[in-house]
Amino acid sequence: MSAWVCLLCECATPTDHLYTFGARTVERCRRCGLEFLHPQPGPAELGALYDARYFASSASAAHGYERYEADEPNLRKTFRRRLRRLSTRISPSAPRRLLDVGCALGYSLAVAAESGWDAAGVEMSAWAAAEARRRFGLDVRRGSLSSVDFPPATFDLITLWDVLEHLADPREALRRCHELLKPNGHLALTTPNTAGLLRRVTGRRWVEYKIPEHLYFFDPTTIHTLLEKSGFHPLSIRSEGKYVGVAFLLKRLAEANPLLAPLRALATLPRLRRLSLYVNATNTMLVVARKA
Ligand SMILES: [Zn+2]
Repeated sequence: MSAWVCLLCECATPTDHLYTFGARTVERCRRCGLEFLHPQPGPAELGALYDARYFASSASAAHGYERYEADEPNLRKTFRRRLRRLSTRISPSAPRRLLDVGCALGYSLAVAAESGWDAAGVEMSAWAAAEARRRFGLDVRRGSLSSVDFPPATFDLITLWDVLEHLADPREALRRCHELLKPNGHLALTTPNTAGLLRRVTGRRWVEYKIPEHLYFFDPTTIHTLLEKSGFHPLSIRSEGKYVGVAFLLKRLAEANPLLAPLRALATLPRLRRLSLYVNATNTMLVVARKA
C-alpha cells in the first residue's frame, strides 16, 4: 500500500502489507506500528453488521457471536471479575455513574447495577439495545458515542469491552470518552493484542482478524500512545482472560485436531455443559487509564 495518513502518528508513512483477506488487506504503519484494515468499510456496511444476527451468527469465526445469549452466565462472571478489580482503583464515594459503550445485551450493565453503580449504555444494534432495556430496565441508548447526548463530565467510569477495534475512528471515540468523564474519571477497555502469543503462533489465521468487523489492531505500545494522544494517563496494560464454558473449549479442541475428536462426545455431558474455566490466552489486553 502507498502513503496513508496514520490515525495514530498522523504521518503519511508507507505501510507494511501483512495479510490479504479478499479485497482487503491488513497493513502496519512503518513509523508507529499501528495495524489497520484497508480499505475500511463505510458507515452503511458497518451499520448493517450489527443487527440481531450479529448475536446469533451461523459463522461466528468470521462474524459476530454464535450464541451470545447462551453465554450469559460466563459473560456475567467475566464482567463481575473485571468490575471487582476496577473498583479497587476508583474512589468509592457514591453515587457512581458508569457508561458501557457497545453494551450489547446489557450484561455488563446488569452486573454493574448489582454492585451499586448507576449504569447506562450505548449500543449500535437497535435489537440489542431494545433487549437490554426490556430485560434490565436500564438507560441503554441506541447509537454511537458521537450520537448520544449525555452532558460532558457525567461519568466516573467508561468501559469499552472489545469495542475499540470495531470503531471507524477510535481516536475520536476516546476523545468523546474524555469529554464525558468527570475530572479524574477512569476509562477501562479490552482489545485484542497483536503482540500476544496467539497472534504470533497463528499469524493470518488469528481469530481476531474478523474482516471487515475489526478495523484496528493494537499492541501495548500503540494503545498507550493512542490513550496519551486522547488526553488520558495510562495506568495499566495487562493480559486479560475470560470465563469460557468447558463444553465450548472441548468442542474447539476437537475441531482443531482430529486426534481430539472424541472430546466432542464429552462436550455433550449435561454436567460439563454447566462448568466454566477462567482462560487467559494472552490474546486480550485490559487497559485502565485516568482522565489527565
Ligand atoms: Zn503510524
